[in-house]
Amino acid sequence: MSVKKVPRRISDGESFGSSIHNTLRRWGELEMLCQATTPLKNQLKLFAEHEQESVKQRPLELNTLLTMFRECFIAEGYENRAAMDNALMRGEKLMQTFFVWWKKEERTVITIESGFKLNIERENATALVLSGRYDRIERTEKGLWIIDYKTSEPRSQESVDSDLQLSIYALAAEQEWKQPIDRLSLLFLREAGVTELSTTRNASELQNAVTAIRLLNSGIEAKDFTATPMREKCAYCPYREMCPARIR
Ligand code: SF4
Repeated sequence: MSVKKVPRRISDGESFGSSIHNTLRRWGELEMLCQATTPLKNQLKLFAEHEQESVKQRPLELNTLLTMFRECFIAEGYENRAAMDNALMRGEKLMQTFFVWWKKEERTVITIESGFKLNIERENATALVLSGRYDRIERTEKGLWIIDYKTSEPRSQESVDSDLQLSIYALAAEQEWKQPIDRLSLLFLREAGVTELSTTRNASELQNAVTAIRLLNSGIEAKDFTATPMREKCAYCPYREMCPARIR
């Protein structure tokens, strides 16, 4: 079997998702800068010392968020000018609904868009190392709250409860932060409002996730790339137009 490196241009969905993620990263960084609980060394990592005062001039208000969105908007990936203008308008609406969600409670952000490495031990082999990125982690009274942003349609609670990506976040955060995971949430940003779907993972569910990761890796090492179509995945997959296994 040969592995094709299929070139593809950035899709409108990916471009829009990146615009939203980049905006919420900057918003989260501003939150961290404004928090008394953020250690100075972390503040300095976010912004150089001389930049901090000018950044702090930006209050944590809706207008700031909207300005950040316009600054972060990526024009690439749209069919034409009208599609791009629609995405700009949609993004502004999404930022308004995010702001309503964000305002609902006091928040303590401990990291934004930070990379992680998860080590999975294996018998008679070197440990597997998975890398990824958290969108946002807040601290709650019970531990860590891991939040992942989505611009797609909300999924079912059942699929969130069994989502392997969320299990990987939980495993990685436990390994890195040595703190209990209070909850994991997918935050679906839509014009009509934010849908927050939350779940938890107990020790046995995390162990099952480790087993699933080892199995998936065995398939990769055996070069078994059999497609595993799922309606929800295929709907947003950038390879769907050329994939014979896709589910429409
Ligand atoms: S279209 Fe579906 S089956 Fe094909 S690669 Fe994408 S997610 Fe997998």
